[in-house]
Amino acid sequence: MIQQKNGVLSFYFQSNLLLRIFLGLVLGAICGIVFQNASGAIEFLKPFGDLFVRLLKMIMVPVIVCTLIVGTSSISPSHLGKVGVKIILFYMFTSLFSIIIGLSVGSVLSPGLGLELAQGAGVAKEANAPTLVEILLAIIPTNPFESIAKGDVLPTICFCIFFGIALAFSRDSKKEEISRAADTVFAFFEGMSDVMFRIVGWIMQYTPIGVFALIFIVFSKNGAQAFGPLLSVTVSVYVGLVLQVVLVYCVICLIFKLSPIIFLKKVRKPMITAFVTRSSGATIPVSMETLEKDMGVPRSIFGFTIPVGATLNMDGTTIYLGVCAIFIANIVGVPLDFSAQLTIVLTAVLASIGTAGVPGAGAIMLLMVLESVGLKVEAGSVVAVAYGMILGIDAILDMGRTSMNVVGDVAGSLVVGKMEGKLDEKVWQS
Ligand code: ASP
Repeated sequence: MIQQKNGVLSFYFQSNLLLRIFLGLVLGAICGIVFQNASGAIEFLKPFGDLFVRLLKMIMVPVIVCTLIVGTSSISPSHLGKVGVKIILFYMFTSLFSIIIGLSVGSVLSPGLGLELAQGAGVAKEANAPTLVEILLAIIPTNPFESIAKGDVLPTICFCIFFGIALAFSRDSKKEEISRAADTVFAFFEGMSDVMFRIVGWIMQYTPIGVFALIFIVFSKNGAQAFGPLLSVTVSVYVGLVLQVVLVYCVICLIFKLSPIIFLKKVRKPMITAFVTRSSGATIPVSMETLEKDMGVPRSIFGFTIPVGATLNMDGTTIYLGVCAIFIANIVGVPLDFSAQLTIVLTAVLASIGTAGVPGAGAIMLLMVLESVGLKVEAGSVVAVAYGMILGIDAILDMGRTSMNVVGDVAGSLVVGKMEGKLDEKVWQS
C-alpha cells in the first residue's frame, strides 16, 4: 500500500477517512468563503479536483460490470422456487416505489434550487428528447463491448444482467464440466470485483483532497449561500427515507396483517447497525438474528432472502439516487424533463441492483445515473463540482440509505415468511 511508516503521510493515512473527508468539506467551505473569487487559488486547486473526478470515472465502468455480474449470478436458479420468485418480486416492487418517492420528494422540495453554478454549462443536453419506445429500445446494446467501452450506462447494465443470469444457469448445470467452467468464470469476476474495490479504496484516500478542492471552488465562487443546498439535499434524502418506511413498508405490513408498530420496534437493531456500519453486507448477521429470534421467520426463508437482499435490494440507495440527480440537475441549471425522469427510474432501479452492500458504493452508481441523463461528470465541468458537493456529505447520506436498504430486506423476508405460512406468530407477538 501507499503508506509510509513515519511522517505527515502516515498521520494522513492512519487518521479516520470519514473524518478527513468531512474535514476536507468544512475546510474547503471555510477557505472558499474567506478567499472570495480568488481566481489564482481556484486555478491552482482546479487540477486537484479534476484529478479526483478522473480517478472516479476511471473506476466507474469496471466496478459496475464486475459487481452486477457477481450480484446477478449469485442467485442460484435452483433456489428460484416459490420463495425466490416472491422475494424478487417484492424487492423489485419496493425499489420501483422508492425511486418514485425519491423523484417526487426531489421535485417537491427541489434541493439545490437557488444555487445555480452555471446556466447549463458543461452539460450535454440533448436537443430532441427521445420517445419512450426509443428509450426502452436503446437499453438493448447492439454491441455490448462498444457500450462498455463508451460507458453507455443502460446498455452496459442490461448486458451485465443478461450475462449474470446466464452465468447463474451455467453454474447450476447438471453437466459437471460446464458448472465447473462457469464457477471459474464466477470466481474470475468475484476476484475482479475485489480488485476494483481495492482501487476504489485507494481513490477514497484521495477523496479529502479532491473534496477540498471542489468545495473550495464552489464556496469561493458562491460564498456562504452554498450551505443551503447541502442542507436541503440531506433533508430531502431523509424525508424520502421516512416516506418509504411509512408509505411502503408499513402499508405492506398492514396488507399482510402484520403490525407496523411491532415491525418498527423489532427492526431497530439491524437498522442501527446499518446506520453505523454503512454496509448492508456487514449487517447481514444482525438482520438474520433479528428475523429468527425476534420476528419468528425460519432460517429456510431468510437464509436466501437476506443475502440476496443485501446484494440486490437497495431501496434507500434508489431514493438517494433520485434526490441527488434532481439536486445536481437543479444546481447546474438543467431541470429534468419527463423522459429524463423515466430514464432515471430505469437506471436507478437497475443501478441499485449493481450497488455492492459496502460503504459509499451508491456514490459510484450516482455517476452512472447522471451519465444516463446527459449530466456527464467530466473533469472541470459544473456537474463534477456539484457531484463533489454530494461526496462531501456522502457519509451522512450513506448512513440513512443503508439503514433503509436493510429495513427493506427484513420487511421482504418477513412478508415472504408470512405468505409461506412459516411465521412463528408466538415469537412475532412476543
Ligand atoms: N452503503 C450502502 C449499503 O451497504 C450502499 C450504498 O452506498 O448505497 O447498502
